[in-house]
Amino acid sequence: MTGYRGRFAPSPTGRLHLGSLVAALGSWLFARAAAGQWLLRVEDLDHEREVPGAAQDMLATLAAFGMRSDEPVIVQSERIERYAAALRKLQAAGHAYPCWCSRADLEAHAGIHPRDCVAKPTARTPAWRLRVDAARIDFDDAICGPQRQDLARDVGDFVIWRADDVCAYQLAVVVDDAAQGVTDVVRGADLLDSTPRQILLQQLLGLPRPRHAHLPLVLDAQGGKLGKQDAACPVDASNPLPALRAALLHLGQVIPRADSVDALLREALRSFDPRRITASSSSDHVAAHNASR
Ligand code: GLU
Repeated sequence: MTGYRGRFAPSPTGRLHLGSLVAALGSWLFARAAAGQWLLRVEDLDHEREVPGAAQDMLATLAAFGMRSDEPVIVQSERIERYAAALRKLQAAGHAYPCWCSRADLEAHAGIHPRDCVAKPTARTPAWRLRVDAARIDFDDAICGPQRQDLARDVGDFVIWRADDVCAYQLAVVVDDAAQGVTDVVRGADLLDSTPRQILLQQLLGLPRPRHAHLPLVLDAQGGKLGKQDAACPVDASNPLPALRAALLHLGQVIPRADSVDALLREALRSFDPRRITASSSSDHVAAHNASR
């Protein structure tokens, strides 16, 4: 074992589809190729989007695809106190402020918070925003190359705790990646532009910054991101090989000849070459991934 620790962190908003399988397999391949650990985390903070039973279904599907967490799976809804502690730390250091602005209030500001709140304080519970001061963030993505974001200009002060008293994704992910000792974040390219927000939070909370690799997204026929909510072609856990091959193809990898999941993964790992992963997305394999051989 090396010090490498990777993870897959799905939100239980539906069945596992090809896009999430690509993220799971990509993170698994990077971790195993580095002789590292691969961890699973259920990101179930957003109760409105959660589909009952989806978390268990996803874990069972991943197991059918030969991928199991090396450590007990962590579940975000059981860890609220840790996120609240991180919020308190940011509040105490003056990095967070309460905000009553609605999305509609911010429309006139192109969605970017003007710092001086548009809405007046009310008796309602506020959201908490992170104060983003002149933060230009640079990082190197192993797949997408050098990245730079002017957070203050392009994102502005962002919500870290929602008005409905739910910890925002950006804060929870940073707390948990640190708690799980994650050294390498490998996930879909839809989260590339969340990364600078997470790096800023890591800096302010004194947490280590992991390395990043953002995988090409699987797009639907309209060029949109394949989403679990669309019930977009769930992968078939009873017939995993076609979807595994499609996911490998999407990642630009050689498709090994193998007639079992374990043999396919073993061979895929042997020939895994991250340089073959391209930063662009492709929709070629969406429809084909459940077809039997
Ligand atoms: N839970 C997020 C999702 O399913 C992924 C979080 C992450 O990988 O950082 O889109």
